Formats: sequence, C-alpha cells, structure tokens
Amino acid sequence: MTENRKLQPLQAVKGMNDILPPDSARWEWLEAKMRSVLQRYGYQNVRTPIVEPTALFVRGIGEVTDIVEKEMYAFEDKMNGDHLALRPEGTAGVVRAMIEHSFLRDSARRLYYFGPMFRHERPQKGRYRQFHQMGIEALGFAGPDVDAEVILLARTLWRELGLVEGQDVVLELNCLGQPDERAAHRAALIQYLEGHLDVLDEEAKRRMYANPLRVLDTKNPAMQAMAEQAPKLLDFLGPESQAHFDGVRALLDSVGLAYRINPRLVRGLDYYNLTVFEWVTDKLGAQGTVCAGGRYDGLVEQLGGKATPAVGFGMGLERVLLLLDTLGLAAPASAPDVYAVVPDPAELPRVLPTLEALRAAGVAVQMHAGGGSFKSQFKKADASGARFALVFGTDELARGEVSLKPLRDGGEQVARALADVAAWSAELLPA
Ligand code: ATP
Ligand code: MG
Repeated sequence: MTENRKLQPLQAVKGMNDILPPDSARWEWLEAKMRSVLQRYGYQNVRTPIVEPTALFVRGIGEVTDIVEKEMYAFEDKMNGDHLALRPEGTAGVVRAMIEHSFLRDSARRLYYFGPMFRHERPQKGRYRQFHQMGIEALGFAGPDVDAEVILLARTLWRELGLVEGQDVVLELNCLGQPDERAAHRAALIQYLEGHLDVLDEEAKRRMYANPLRVLDTKNPAMQAMAEQAPKLLDFLGPESQAHFDGVRALLDSVGLAYRINPRLVRGLDYYNLTVFEWVTDKLGAQGTVCAGGRYDGLVEQLGGKATPAVGFGMGLERVLLLLDTLGLAAPASAPDVYAVVPDPAELPRVLPTLEALRAAGVAVQMHAGGGSFKSQFKKADASGARFALVFGTDELARGEVSLKPLRDGGEQVARALADVAAWSAELLPA
C-alpha cells in the first residue's frame, strides 16, 4: 500500500544548522585567523568529547544556573542507564580532562578548543541550540598578568578581523571577589531584596536565596531600578581582591585597552571569581555578547583536582560571523586559482600529470569533470571564480602545450609547455 508513496525528507533538528559552501569557507577563514592568533600567544589545542557525564556540568556549572536548570540536553543512555549530557560549554570538560590525565601536576597550561556546544534555548538570530565556540583556558596562573593576556588575545583577534575596539566591540570588566567577600555581599543583597519583594518577579523570588547575584542580571524592565540601587559587590572587595583587580586594570591601561567597568556583570555560570569580562557589541541586539570569560580559581578543586587558579573565555563563532557580516567585513570568497578545461575526456591521461604537478606546487586547481562542450566547460570556469582557465585542447596537447587564459583582469591567452610545469606554475599562484 505504501510502496509507491515518496518518503518525506527529514530535516535538521530545530536550532541546529548545517554549515554549507560558500558559508563554510567563511568559517574556515575565521578559524584559521583564530588559530594563528592562538599560536602566537602560546596556546595549545585540546579536543574533549562532546558528551560528558551530566554530573560534570551540575557540579561544574552549578545547579541553580540557567544552563543546568533549563538549557542542558541531558539524557539517559538507553544501553546502560548512564546519565549523559551534550556539553553546553567547554570549560568543565577541559578541566575534567586535565585532572583525569594529571596534566596540572608539574606545569601550568595554556589551552584552546574549538567545537559545537548545545543548549536548549529559543532559536533566534545569534542564538541556536547547537552553536560553536572557540575557547581558551589558562590553568595554573594566579594572575593578574594572565587575566590581561586572555583579554588581549581577544583584542588581537578583533584587530585582525577588522573590528574596531571601543566601537564595534567593547570590553566590559568586573571583579567578583572571593567566596567570603561574595558571602558578605550576598547577605547584604538578600536583605536588600527582602526589602523589595513588591518589585521582584516570580523567577527572582525563586532565586533570591539560591543565587541572588543572578537576580540583578535580570532583563525584566520593572526590576531595573531596583537592580541599579542594589549593594555592589565591588564595594565588598578586600585588599587582595582589590589589588588583583587594580593589577588587571593597570596592565590593560599599559597597552591602551579601554574598558567599561560593569558592576552588574556576573556571568551565567557559578564558577567565576575575581575577574569577569565580556566583549559586547551593540550591533546584534539582545545577542550582543560575542566573548565572555573570567577567572575560576575554585573549579579544578570543585571537580576533584588539586586547587589550581585558572582563567579563560568562550567566544561564540556564529555571533562573530554575524557581526562581521553586519559590518560588511565578510571574508574573501574562496575560489580556485585555476579551472582546467578538458574538451575531450579521452585526453585526461595526458592532462592529469600536469594538474598533479601544479597542485604539488601549491596551485589550487579545479578540474572539469563529466565532459560537455567546450562552451559549457568555459562557462563553468568563469563561474568558479578562478583567475585562470587552463585549456587542454586536442591541438594544444598535440604540440605538447596548454593554453593559459586569464579570466579576471583581461590579458592575452598564452601557451605554456607541458614539459616544464615547474617553470610557470608560480604565475598561477595568488599575488
Ligand atoms: P547569553 O547571555 O547571550 O545567553 P551566555 O552568558 O549564556 O550568553 P556563555 O555561557 O558565556 O554565554 O557562552 C560564551 C559565548 O558563547 C557567548 O558570549 C556567546 O557568544 C556564545 N553563546 C552562548 N549561547 C549561545 C547560543 N545559544 N547560540 C549562539 N551562541 C551562544
Ligand atoms: Mg545564555
């Protein structure tokens, strides 16, 4: 009965995107820029699993956080009943790996990762259920020098992407102090919130004892004035925290990096202390944070390792690309250097050695495949964006030659000898 009915094609999961050409070329371009900067700051790559035990994130990120409470893809492995989660962020997995492999025993580490993260959020521009981060983690450094370093690494990247700091992206900075200072502030804050129950929404009331700092991070307009007037953590810092914060600021000042102190910047993960920061833009609406991070000196111990100071950030790649798009800073389109026109496929055995020699010399060669008329092949050569067509016509081949025709900037068609590709391959490389 159903045998003739066409099967409905399946679709990707909502909020999870395919990244296809030509867009994928922009991703590769961005990632290459990032790797180049990371390498210059001495950071090394780590690759951890996308799936981790759910408990890692509950313990690492904190039970009363948006991520763990409502955004995490947690599930039971039907094969053995294990409680697993798709990673919603990268830091917890990196720290787990460092502890598991005793990587922090005798040296500090500067690490970076790239990869997909998963959060069950309402999909919209700049917010997806599978998104991608580049993140860095510097473990074993108490700062403030490395705090400044991770912030500067991001600045170098913005500059190389053509973004203007202080205009396209702005640094916001805060200091969360240490647990005892937070406790004193927290007590004062709860008392303050108890005095303003009339303006608190349901979510705030539910959270005010478990995570009162997050109440201040509210987006509810009716609570803004209350949040503005609340006791500020910065006023509760002891001399050491204050000195750390001043140290970070002095280093940023020394390299002319302007920032905005934002006393309400708290971040959505529980593990931060001392420095927290965000690089924000006003060009992406509510999805304006392109890079966020800070210090998390307590996390390694909290996950069962030896107490190790640490600082890092996560950067949303979709948002960086959206920002570049919005500002017209798109990556150069990717195109081959050369398109090989092969009017008679039977000649291919005489053509391929030349194409292979060109590729070995570093030339990007797209070979016409599948036959077709000379005219249709030439159309494809033009559409490919290549700067040259190499025409392997039967007459040319009979003379031991190939015709080289510039496709972009005019110029005459010339003949080149098949026998000495090495002598002319460099002509085809980009300037
Ligand atoms: P937001 O306030 O926008 O929800 P967040 O505080 O949840 O961000 P982090 O957990 O600090 O974000 O993640 C680091 C970065 O990853 C963010 O600054 C952002 O660039 C990116 N990011 C976070 N969630 C998403 C998402 N759902 N889709 C796309 N990018 C995201
Ligand atoms: Mg979020």
